[in-house]
Amino acid sequence: MKQCGQWSTVVALAAAVVMGVAGAAGCRRPGARPTGVVVAPPAAAVEEEVVVEPGPSAAPVVEEAPLNAQAAELKIKKSAQVSLLCYHDFTIGKSNNPMVINIEHFRRHLQALRDARLPVISMDHYLAWRRGERDIPDPSIMITIDDGWKSVGKLAHPVLREFGFPYTLFLYKNYVDGGGRALTTAEIKTLIAEGVTIGSHSVSHPYPPDYRRRAKGVTAEYEAWLDAEFRESKAFLEQKFGIQVTTYAYPGGYYTPEMAKKGVSDWGYEALFTVNPVRTSWDTPIAEVGRFIIFGNDVNDRNFKAATNFGGGQEDLGRQLLGGEVGDDGVPQPPVVVVKPAENETVTDRRPQITVDLSKLSDIDPTSVIMRMPGFGEVPATYNEDTRQLVYRPASVLRSPEVGVQVRLRRVGQEKDDIVSWKFFIDQKAYYFPKSTASSE
Ligand SMILES: [Zn+2]
Repeated sequence: MKQCGQWSTVVALAAAVVMGVAGAAGCRRPGARPTGVVVAPPAAAVEEEVVVEPGPSAAPVVEEAPLNAQAAELKIKKSAQVSLLCYHDFTIGKSNNPMVINIEHFRRHLQALRDARLPVISMDHYLAWRRGERDIPDPSIMITIDDGWKSVGKLAHPVLREFGFPYTLFLYKNYVDGGGRALTTAEIKTLIAEGVTIGSHSVSHPYPPDYRRRAKGVTAEYEAWLDAEFRESKAFLEQKFGIQVTTYAYPGGYYTPEMAKKGVSDWGYEALFTVNPVRTSWDTPIAEVGRFIIFGNDVNDRNFKAATNFGGGQEDLGRQLLGGEVGDDGVPQPPVVVVKPAENETVTDRRPQITVDLSKLSDIDPTSVIMRMPGFGEVPATYNEDTRQLVYRPASVLRSPEVGVQVRLRRVGQEKDDIVSWKFFIDQKAYYFPKSTASSE
């Protein structure tokens, strides 16, 4: 079985708050079965979302706000923060796979949410907030599960019900009734009847190389294929289960500006979800809502803590900004923040141009972006607000073989800075003796 790669850690860092980014990406892609499934007639329409009643000790429940004439006057807290958690597969055994989490480990997460009195809201509630129809508690948590593994019904669902936490299940067409460890139609119907929200996760669960291969050359074919991945998956789930599907989770977290645009304008989704591990607010682009992938083999619960520690102290989050780890499927995950020279790279130029691509971070306060280098303090780096590129070239040669760089920035509406720091090396020997003949300066 394949697994989407996950981004991960690289640098050192310390970062504040909330929207760090970074990432993680992936979903596992089970062996997909062929498409062309016969679509079952619509089941009895499940129109209203069944809200799972919280148990007696459940996290605080939010009062339903009236959706009437007063709605326009409803004051929406736009600065409210929501962290979306993204799980995949579950096991009763030990997990050595980042996309599979032991069910007792999962239970500890839910217990931690309850202990911290962090409200878990439903997708409907979240969307109503984004439409300006209903407020949400600040902060809030939302739980999502990708792909459609059988273990969701067998293991995770009972625990979620026990806690009374709503969640959204993102399914991709080719894995519904996919055999083996895939959820069946009957099992999915049971979950829907018990209040689970269903979202789309494409038809075939493509990965970046799939997009690139198909995008090569034949534009019309690529467009048709892309269109089908978004449109057909939605239609399939709606018809098969008699529900409305208004949300989409990008497989592997991969998306392009085109997908984000068409997702809403052409393909009929109200919200689309990435796996950029950032907390979201009312201003987050609706087609780029971040989620924290929770890795089953992370005994330190780094992402879970980053997602749920609203008090700050996001020390680990900035570490992930540089990404780049290769998943089991061989796909290196793109970093959220691209730096050059890269972390731990060795360069020969003693006056290297240092560039930091912050284009994937939205809502940066342009006046907050600064670069520091140990021994130099703040350096006069140039930040282009439009392209979100930060560039600096040292005025004189760097004398140390190890060069540290720290970039600090503030997101609009946040109270703390995000910090990305990394180091690279200068090969002084190569600098002084650039040729094998080793002629010195
Ligand atoms: Zn997936």
